[in-house]
Amino acid sequence: MKRETVLKRVRKKVKLWDIVVIGGGATGLGVAVDAASRGYKTLLLEQIDFAKGTSSRSTKLVHGGVRYLQQGDIALVFEALKERGLMFKNAPHLVTNQSFIIPSYDWWGGPFYTVGLKVYDIMAGKLGLGPSKMLNREEAIEALPTVEQNGLKGGTVYHDGQFDDSRMAISLAQTCMDYGGSVLNYCMVTDLIKEEDLVTGVVAVDQLSGEEYKIKSKVVVNATGVFVDDIFRMDVPDARQTIVPSQGIHLVLSREFLPNESAVMVPHTPDGRVMFAVPWHNHVVVGTTDTLIDHPSLEPVALDTEIDFLLETAGQYLTKQPTREDVLSVFAGLRPLAKPDDEKKATKEISRGHKIIISLSGLITITGGKWTTYRKMAEDVVEKAIMLGGLPERECITRHMPIHGYRMDIDPYKDPMAPYGLDKENVLALEEDHPELQGFLSEKLQIRKSQVIWAVREEMAQTVEDVLARRTRALFLDARESMQIAPECARLMAGEMKKSEEWVNAQVAVFNDLAKNYVINPK
Ligand SMILES: Cc1cc2nc3c(=O)[nH]c(=O)nc-3n(C[C@H](O)[C@H](O)[C@H](O)COP(=O)(O)OP(=O)(O)OC[C@H]3O[C@@H](n4cnc5c(N)ncnc54)[C@H](O)[C@@H]3O)c2cc1C
Repeated sequence: MKRETVLKRVRKKVKLWDIVVIGGGATGLGVAVDAASRGYKTLLLEQIDFAKGTSSRSTKLVHGGVRYLQQGDIALVFEALKERGLMFKNAPHLVTNQSFIIPSYDWWGGPFYTVGLKVYDIMAGKLGLGPSKMLNREEAIEALPTVEQNGLKGGTVYHDGQFDDSRMAISLAQTCMDYGGSVLNYCMVTDLIKEEDLVTGVVAVDQLSGEEYKIKSKVVVNATGVFVDDIFRMDVPDARQTIVPSQGIHLVLSREFLPNESAVMVPHTPDGRVMFAVPWHNHVVVGTTDTLIDHPSLEPVALDTEIDFLLETAGQYLTKQPTREDVLSVFAGLRPLAKPDDEKKATKEISRGHKIIISLSGLITITGGKWTTYRKMAEDVVEKAIMLGGLPERECITRHMPIHGYRMDIDPYKDPMAPYGLDKENVLALEEDHPELQGFLSEKLQIRKSQVIWAVREEMAQTVEDVLARRTRALFLDARESMQIAPECARLMAGEMKKSEEWVNAQVAVFNDLAKNYVINPK
């Protein structure tokens, strides 16, 4: 996956693409994979880096959504459960089967949730990940030794999937390229090309060189998450707002807070939301919140009230109360929620289903949805694109299509290099040829030096942030440690990219500035 190769394709003046996708998050990448694998000439443009937006900031669950079942959104749960099963089958190197326990502190909690989750199991059908069951007090404590035991009556165990979101995004970008498609990061769409009121392409600017491209396409898809309204306004300057961004934050704690394999699910926090504490890359991710935000941003910042709320709620369910000092990293993401017609509707009540909008100009926009349902969302979008662009009809093949790196014999739970799948050996082979790459960049986070070179050479990483935030997850796992390793990461990248000492210093400074937002200071 080389940037220069894609740039050469983009520079060809006469080229007419079948589908141009704006946005390199889960949704856009899914569309690009679907379109490329059906054989359409496909180009995806991402303004910063793949999964820079919401798609690297999720709770890392591949789930049907127990909460939506509670809310009675049966169709969404059905769809998500099916997609959960397909994602688990198509990307076994990226998705694991995760057991969740709902601890109960009243006599009715166990039976109540067990019945509900039996329905969840039945709905998953053949794609189920394992049966749910009721636990007595002793069984619940054995599975979750650090759960608050005072008043504990028992619990319910059920199964969902868990994954590494930005690594999944990189694998989708690679899958698109494997099928002959093109993906390009650091290329921002600044305008739409229109002929006789119809969208016939985009104007895009390479954010690294400043070069501008006029790119013609039969269909243009707007998959820019919380930024969809910016693209709408390129089409119709006074277009109405369609998205309300809602912020969700996560705290990352050390594994001592949840040392066993099971995750905790709290179905009703004091303000009526759901909270998860999930083991992830040998750490624990606790989230999330739901806070309406005025304006979308690429680097949303956690509010103090959100941090306090999560610490307090987690403390009610864990034997040890986590404090601000215990937080290794805090990250925030924005949900691209479809704006409800009813302004008073609470964000937690707005459907997480997706919505496809076709503008009079022929622009196709997709909003809402979940990481888990990215594949189905993409299938629906490409079906519309075929109609609108007059493309030759071809069947969707992604339902049973392995994702780049597909490998069964690797355990994402135990092997830190599992997300590379079949590429793992190629990454390690770099160390045989270059002994200076042997060993860890961060032993604490199990990140190898060779991963940095691989990220630059094969995964289009351009900046220290690309490597430490999304090719590896250092920034999200331990922000202070990521700042420690930033200088060495920059030097390794500079060697590979033939960059100067000034570049190294500038990269480290920019990264440290960003990473400060992922650190919580004591009050
Ligand atoms: C807190 C939180 C937790 C979540 N947890 C889960 C979960 O556990 N499981 C699950 O299934 N789902 C989860 N979701 C939902 C899921 O993360 C999102 O639905 C999904 O990531 C949205 O992807 P997207 O591609 O639509 O948006 P994004 O990931 O935001 O991608 C949009 C991209 O468009 C790019 N872009 C914008 N403007 C331009 C332009 N002009 N030119 C080029 N590119 C542009 C941006 O840079 C960005 O990368 C969660 C969401 C949140 C907020």
